[in-house]
Amino acid sequence: MNLKSLTLPELAEVLKELNQPSFRAKQVYTWLHKGVRDYDEMTNLPKSLRDTLAEKYPICAPKVVRRQQSARDGTIKYLWELSDGNCVETVLMRYHYGNTVCISTEVGCRMGCAFCASTIGGLVRRLEPYEMLDEVLFTQVDSGLPVSHIVLMGIGEPLDNFDNVMRFLELVNSPEGMNISMRHISLSTCGLVPKIDELAKRRLQLTLSVSLHAPNDAVRDKIMPVNRAYPSEELLDACRRYYQATSRRISFEYAMIDGVNDRPEDAKELLRRLKGLPAHFNLIPLNHVEESPLKPSTKAAVAAFQKTLEDGGVTATVRRTLGGDIDASCGQLRRKYNQKKIEDTR
Ligand code: SAH
Repeated sequence: MNLKSLTLPELAEVLKELNQPSFRAKQVYTWLHKGVRDYDEMTNLPKSLRDTLAEKYPICAPKVVRRQQSARDGTIKYLWELSDGNCVETVLMRYHYGNTVCISTEVGCRMGCAFCASTIGGLVRRLEPYEMLDEVLFTQVDSGLPVSHIVLMGIGEPLDNFDNVMRFLELVNSPEGMNISMRHISLSTCGLVPKIDELAKRRLQLTLSVSLHAPNDAVRDKIMPVNRAYPSEELLDACRRYYQATSRRISFEYAMIDGVNDRPEDAKELLRRLKGLPAHFNLIPLNHVEESPLKPSTKAAVAAFQKTLEDGGVTATVRRTLGGDIDASCGQLRRKYNQKKIEDTR
């Protein structure tokens, strides 16, 4: 058991069993959520309790294997080694409204999207709640920059690790912990329809981002295998239900791929299909992944696509690419590192 995966009431139970007064739980919780690496840093606890906790529940922290900082925009990318030797990536982006961390939710991914580096080796395992929390905590500790926003857009499919992700959200949102508002959190999914419905039931105020990437099934089937299980019409219906339940506008991600999904007709088709659903589009020029033949759209195609959507009444922003000089699109750093490890052992 890792204490950092526990909610405050659960931690209180653990401390009660150690015959501790109830106020201790909050002290320990607050320290853990500051990212301390050693119980001896918990200076307001008696030494005997620090020793007991250290023996029973060692604090673990991921190790920095690579840390790259963009010379252009200050984006920092971390490659962490987890306690079992697996690696995941976290990216810290600096926006005018605050520092945003993009976290991974799984080691690898089983969704198989054709353009994505994270899925190339498949799913290795899902992250525990404390491991996602650690990504945020230690990015903050290492960079010295306070984190105000979180996006679940790194390696992995958050809704394929549903329970752990829900618990992580509860932890990071807790007033005694990082106290990050749900409105400052975005969760991105490739479109697992039953899980979107499950999420809707929780009525969280986070932003749901849906990786749409295609105007219709013919195109989406080719680049996103998940579409064969949950075709785009079912996905859009789930988005409608999600909006009904939460009153939160859906944010659609759309990676612009040259000659695949970027024609003005594609934008028009999207407009027809989205009718009545409050939506925002994030247009992302495809990040080229070495292993893939897919290429990014031209600037002109992106601009024309954006204009068509906006003329049709759907807001669309072209995502500024941060950290282009440091492999900051997720999955690429881990992939290169793993390949190097394999080469080194040859
Ligand atoms: N599994 C989740 C979240 C992870 S990826 C999801 O699918 O939404 C975050 C976003 O980056 C997704 O929209 C994903 O489709 C997109 N993405 C992955 N590889 C990309 C690439 N090479 N270029 C542009 N966007 C990419």
